[in-house]
Amino acid sequence: MPFGWQYLGRWSFITALVVVCGALVVFPAETRAKTVPARIIEFRHHSNEEIPRILASIHERCPNITRIYTLSESSVRGIPLYAIEFSTTPGYHQLYHPEFKYIANMHGNEVLGRELLLHLANYLCEQFLARDPEIQQLIELTRVHLLPSMNPDGWKVSTETGGKDYLIGRNNNNSVDLNRNFPDLNRIMFSNEEAHVSHNNHLLEQVDRLKEPIQPETKAVIRLIMQVPFVLSANLHGGDLVANYPYDASRSGARTEYTKSPDDQTFRHLALAYSTHHKNMANPRRHGCGHDGYNFGKQGGITNGAAWYSVQGGMQDFNYLSSNDFEITLELGCDKYPEASALQDEWDNNKDALIHFMWQAHIGVKGHVRDAVTGQPLPHTVIHVKNITAGHDDDIQHDVTSVHGGDFWRLLTPGQYIISAYRDGYHAMSHRVNVYDRPHHEAQRVDFHLRPLQPTMQSPNGNSITDTEYDETDDEMMRNHIVNNLRKKWLFRAYNRAISTN
Ligand SMILES: [Zn+2]
Repeated sequence: MPFGWQYLGRWSFITALVVVCGALVVFPAETRAKTVPARIIEFRHHSNEEIPRILASIHERCPNITRIYTLSESSVRGIPLYAIEFSTTPGYHQLYHPEFKYIANMHGNEVLGRELLLHLANYLCEQFLARDPEIQQLIELTRVHLLPSMNPDGWKVSTETGGKDYLIGRNNNNSVDLNRNFPDLNRIMFSNEEAHVSHNNHLLEQVDRLKEPIQPETKAVIRLIMQVPFVLSANLHGGDLVANYPYDASRSGARTEYTKSPDDQTFRHLALAYSTHHKNMANPRRHGCGHDGYNFGKQGGITNGAAWYSVQGGMQDFNYLSSNDFEITLELGCDKYPEASALQDEWDNNKDALIHFMWQAHIGVKGHVRDAVTGQPLPHTVIHVKNITAGHDDDIQHDVTSVHGGDFWRLLTPGQYIISAYRDGYHAMSHRVNVYDRPHHEAQRVDFHLRPLQPTMQSPNGNSITDTEYDETDDEMMRNHIVNNLRKKWLFRAYNRAISTN
């Protein structure tokens, strides 16, 4: 590791920057070039200069369902980070439409994902124009963001040196591994666990120090994550063939140790959704990759991140612990920089998996939270889930929150759940829900209309009291849950005070 020093910085400064600067800059129309054929993207490696031209040509073919934008920051060497969005309302979040993203080439010498995302963008456009019902429906129901290269500087170094080295070009131009450069929210989450505070979502505001300066490429992606209410994403790498799911950082600090997240079951489903739709990833008879030779195909082509090797400061866990997003990491092949001649086969290997995985943004439930009296949307409402499938009684200790329009998504595997909405100043409310397996359909709706608390329900210290009444389920279990939740809330505040005075 090239950094042995501590960078002390207040996270609030960075969050302020997020608000002031805004993340998204619309790609100026006059820089569009028309040199790339509209329909055909060749199976070869495309340069940093070619990426915006290809995206522009796709946008010209499909102007009504695409938008090109650059992230708020460019790479260290000044190359813009281009993304393309697919949606029936480009540029806008639509109520009940989940936001999805693929980010590739974060490690500059891992290049397959970059080419796959260019081909995927072309495929979505062409199939939409060809009235392919599956692609039309996907785009009508989902807002998809594709960022082909998060590390164009590393790509250039890797490409100019022949693309053969396991490490050259991996880092950005400041020699920083971007997949170790995110604020280490796992550390905060694990210390919350030690303090018996089961708070493990939206942890960014608890960041008090950074181990190194945040790189521009990392900052740009953090702003994107904070601005767009993503539900699901994947981060495309190379060097093995496996779908890797949270947590990436081990709980004990051990180099390898299966480290479950509260959504382990859902994450295993998500990783399998990719691996089993890839032509080879879940094949138990294929060969493993060189360095350790282990064939992940024997375990369905998936692995828990920390069970493989522990990573601190990674993007995958950052998404889960800072936002409503669920992210997995896709290792797309043994060869980090495959020959151009292999690209067509690799597209064929990955195409169905790339599409099927996007549909996973529609598993579980979605809905809205509104004020029962005024009908106003209620953003930032906490949505908590208890799994009661087959006699279980398990709180999933990872809450999501409703977004600006009061809409929310909760990815879940089939089963029975109690889904509860909590908001200061309102009666809590719960629904008992059966979640069914409905592949390639939008998620079922669960809506909440919360009744405001009366002024007399305010406690003497001004804190609102969560009511123990609720509309749908009226049993002791639910009452206990609400009491526990109040306890957690109090503990969390006490814990916050404790760390802020240190
Ligand atoms: Zn990588």
